[in-house]
Amino acid sequence: MRQKQHRPQWPARYAQTLFEGEAEGESPGQRAEQEGAARRLRVQEITRRLVAHYGEPEWSRKDPLSQLVDVLLSHRTRDEQTAAAYASLRQHFGSWEAVRDAPTAAVEKAIALVNWPEVKAPRLQAILRQITAERGALNLDFLCGLPVEESLTWLSRFEGVGPKTAACVLLFSCRQPVLPVDTHVHRISIRLGLIPARLTPEQAQPILQALLPADARTIYNFHKGLVWHGQRCCFFQRPRCEQCFLRDLCAYYAAHQRPAAKPGDQKGTA
Ligand code: SF4
Repeated sequence: MRQKQHRPQWPARYAQTLFEGEAEGESPGQRAEQEGAARRLRVQEITRRLVAHYGEPEWSRKDPLSQLVDVLLSHRTRDEQTAAAYASLRQHFGSWEAVRDAPTAAVEKAIALVNWPEVKAPRLQAILRQITAERGALNLDFLCGLPVEESLTWLSRFEGVGPKTAACVLLFSCRQPVLPVDTHVHRISIRLGLIPARLTPEQAQPILQALLPADARTIYNFHKGLVWHGQRCCFFQRPRCEQCFLRDLCAYYAAHQRPAAKPGDQKGTA
């Protein structure tokens, strides 16, 4: 008689797909289904711990256009420098119309704190001019009323606006359920074993999105939590695994950092 399969309890169950092989008699379809379910549970637990550790992130108070400007400034730039450059733009020009119409050198000077201001200033002005030409005004509030796919397509037509930037605007400002996959989300998701290492952020986006519920608050908690974790613990170089509260859920830790079991620890060892 076939024995009832043992189902591990929390937290071991989260780690099921990381550490276990294929069960006898299991079809590839059943295995894939189980892996998907286990990954969704792990994402749920990861999100819960991120919120417990870092707190629930506050929603942005920026309208979609202001959020777009902010995200464009933030590319490859630290948060404090982005915030200072954004404040400088508001202070110097007072409106996005004034930024659009200002001499490019003046805009470049106002955002000098970010990386590549000489690229970002003309690009920002070009986007502001294009929005004005298409919409008749500088306002992107209409995006929040469109289906997510439509909003993503609309925003992604502008030079310098990729899927991550578009998703940031829609999640942060419109609170639409779409996950931005930035460098931290990408790197840590690979380390945690949620996605294969070979995937680009663009390829990883739909896979990670499918592991989350279609709920903007949960997606925001997961995104922001991983960004903060990447800035404070899971660094690009030398992640601080020994201090990490996600160790037992992490494929990287299991493969590289987990202390090897001593011979005396093994069951049945004489
Ligand atoms: S255990 Fe290490 S690699 Fe895994 S998430 Fe934590 S810091 Fe990153």
